[in-house]
Amino acid sequence: MIPSGGTYPELVRRWEAMHDGDRVSVDHLETRRVGRTLLCVDIRAEQAPTISIAAGVHGDEPAGVWALLGLVEDSELDARYSYRIWPCTNPSGYAARTRQSADGVDVNRTFGRLGTSPEARAILAANRDLTFALSLDLHEDCDASGFYCYEYGGGEIGRRVISALDEEGLEIDPLETTFNLAGPLDDAHSMRERGRVVPDASEETALLGGLSYSLALARGSARHALTFETPSPAAWGTRLAMHRCAVLAAVAALLEESASMPLK
Ligand SMILES: [Zn+2]
Repeated sequence: MIPSGGTYPELVRRWEAMHDGDRVSVDHLETRRVGRTLLCVDIRAEQAPTISIAAGVHGDEPAGVWALLGLVEDSELDARYSYRIWPCTNPSGYAARTRQSADGVDVNRTFGRLGTSPEARAILAANRDLTFALSLDLHEDCDASGFYCYEYGGGEIGRRVISALDEEGLEIDPLETTFNLAGPLDDAHSMRERGRVVPDASEETALLGGLSYSLALARGSARHALTFETPSPAAWGTRLAMHRCAVLAAVAALLEESASMPLK
């Protein structure tokens, strides 16, 4: 039994409660599957760059979903940015607590072209005209012993995230022998250090057999894209704390990076 913050209907109710029709809008996007909608949340700041944050593309990785909700409920996201938030990008998988969607599809391999799953198609269509200063996708890993991240687009945001978790005393995965990175993430195809993997995006695309959300955004609309992984064997509260700390540290690192350039 995986600990979790609650059911999908409860998640929807909590997000809907934050809709104010002005700064915060909470929408239900139709997918091409009858009866299946996706939550899409926009938090607007005047003339501010946009950060995208997504969670729940794998239905058995609930900590990111509830950490993201908590960050917005507690107004912890920096108000100097706008946000496009995808609270749970695989609702049918979340409801069933399965990695795949109800169609038996790993949605996180379907972000190629215009999207090859109903969920990816709806997300890519809704994101079509947006560009992002930063994209974050929140995951969990049952083989990890601590937090780690994937970073696309260059820069130091991932390292800043690891430092922030260190300061909070949260466990970082050394990415040495604790789990076996295979295929596109072996040493020939990625740079790996404590808590951070920088994959070769084109090799990863070829070997995964489909584009992940982060790879798709890194290729097109996002300057930086990071995927966060918390260790699912760890305590629920620890995993929530890791995702919260990581999201806030990434936004702070972006703000610092932007300080040398004017926001536009
Ligand atoms: Zn995942």
